Amino acid sequence: MELKNDVFIINYSENDKDFAKTLFNQLNENKKRVMDFFELDKVSKQTYIKIYDNLQDFINLRTENGKFPERYKPWNVASAVNGDIHILNFDLYKKAPNHENREFDDYLKTLVHEFVHVCHEEILKDKSIKPALLMEGIATKLAGQDNYQTNHISCSASELKTNFYNVENHYSYAYTIMEYLMDATSHSDLLEILKEPHKVDVEELVKNTNQYLENKQKDDLNNQEQSVK
Ligand SMILES: [Zn+2]
Repeated sequence: MELKNDVFIINYSENDKDFAKTLFNQLNENKKRVMDFFELDKVSKQTYIKIYDNLQDFINLRTENGKFPERYKPWNVASAVNGDIHILNFDLYKKAPNHENREFDDYLKTLVHEFVHVCHEEILKDKSIKPALLMEGIATKLAGQDNYQTNHISCSASELKTNFYNVENHYSYAYTIMEYLMDATSHSDLLEILKEPHKVDVEELVKNTNQYLENKQKDDLNNQEQSVK
């Protein structure tokens, strides 16, 4: 079954028809905000969204029918591939490890996160290089996934650069680094960085983010003291 307009086509099974409509609305509500951020008038093709009610089908997609088993981890719930979005239905999403306590609102944010990836890929100068740190950073940030936050980046820059998905708290680090960048950089400069995210100096970024977090904590403390007086 399908729901579509000029930007999205959602493909779903009969069982998911009630909530496919909700997903369609969620995407349409966020479409302009996300596209405006990347200064896109349109995406190069309609974004095709497939909602999976069968986990094995999703695993087959991720692993290319078993050819690359390492590409599927049990906590994978969605992915953006060639401008298409593949996402588990809410029941399967809740069954994934670490997702038991997630709410429907978290699920909707995951969907927006994938659409951010689709739009970001549109502006990449070299679409064959997709460094995870900034790509996941902007996706978690624009999707409003503020459960991913940290007070300190405590892994090395090289781990974030070369081994991102195996770093503990990777999304929290990506979110927080992007929060710093958005605060410290003009929108047009940030877009330039996001067009060639592999060129960013990750070591410098980690150092500056930790400094930013320290300053923020000092400010918070000062404000607390002020309000006590
Ligand atoms: Zn992502």
